[in-house]
Amino acid sequence: MRIPGRRDPSELRRDMVKSQIRRRGISDPLVLEAMVAVPRHAFVPDAIRHAAYGDRALPIGFGATISQPYIVALMTAALQIDRQGLRVLEIGTGSGYQAAVLAECGCEVYSIERVPALHARASEVLQAEGYGDRTHLRLGDGSRGWPEEAPFDRVIVTAAAGAVPPALLEQTDADGLLIAPVGSDRGQVIRRFRRRADEWEPTDIEGALFVPLIEDPDGSAD
Ligand code: SAH
Repeated sequence: MRIPGRRDPSELRRDMVKSQIRRRGISDPLVLEAMVAVPRHAFVPDAIRHAAYGDRALPIGFGATISQPYIVALMTAALQIDRQGLRVLEIGTGSGYQAAVLAECGCEVYSIERVPALHARASEVLQAEGYGDRTHLRLGDGSRGWPEEAPFDRVIVTAAAGAVPPALLEQTDADGLLIAPVGSDRGQVIRRFRRRADEWEPTDIEGALFVPLIEDPDGSAD
């Protein structure tokens, strides 16, 4: 898909990877290649498509944002995708872009979104862009995880909470990794938890600002 009157999107993506991602120290070739391959502009609303390759998060409606490209790359690299077919649970499908990047890295992605319109749109775009086979989407409150498909080798939370919901830690496989922004609406730190049997070792990765994780009180969302 071409953006009229502008440069070829794949050229814009190569520039994005070089100037926003490699320059900030991310060197994992799997992640860099995936960021060059996934057409980010397809996941952004039409009205702001011209800004798809800018160095920032963008609004996608319903108070949600598609994360800055660098943050998507940082979190994907932090997941340490060291083999094909890793089963990854994502909380906060949003635009579907992070799910597409994970699928492009060879992961089998299970992603949950609570806003019906975002869920529907992401599902449509992922299908259209050829990621339908490797992405499995569900509508509901992701803070409860996806017990029927657990355990997961990797869990990525793309909405912020004061603490990681216990169900997500429990649904992470032994030796698995979970990554989540932890903090308040004034700022968070992206924290990675490495599971070793019943211990979760935390490592702080970097500061960030994500939209909040909204937990549905009665648990009936799905
Ligand atoms: N990963 C997304 C960005 C997500 S923004 C992307 O690549 O575009 C955070 C998303 O989390 C929003 O879409 C928001 O609606 C969703 N969200 C918030 N609380 C949630 C919950 N409890 N369960 C599932 N999704 C949730």
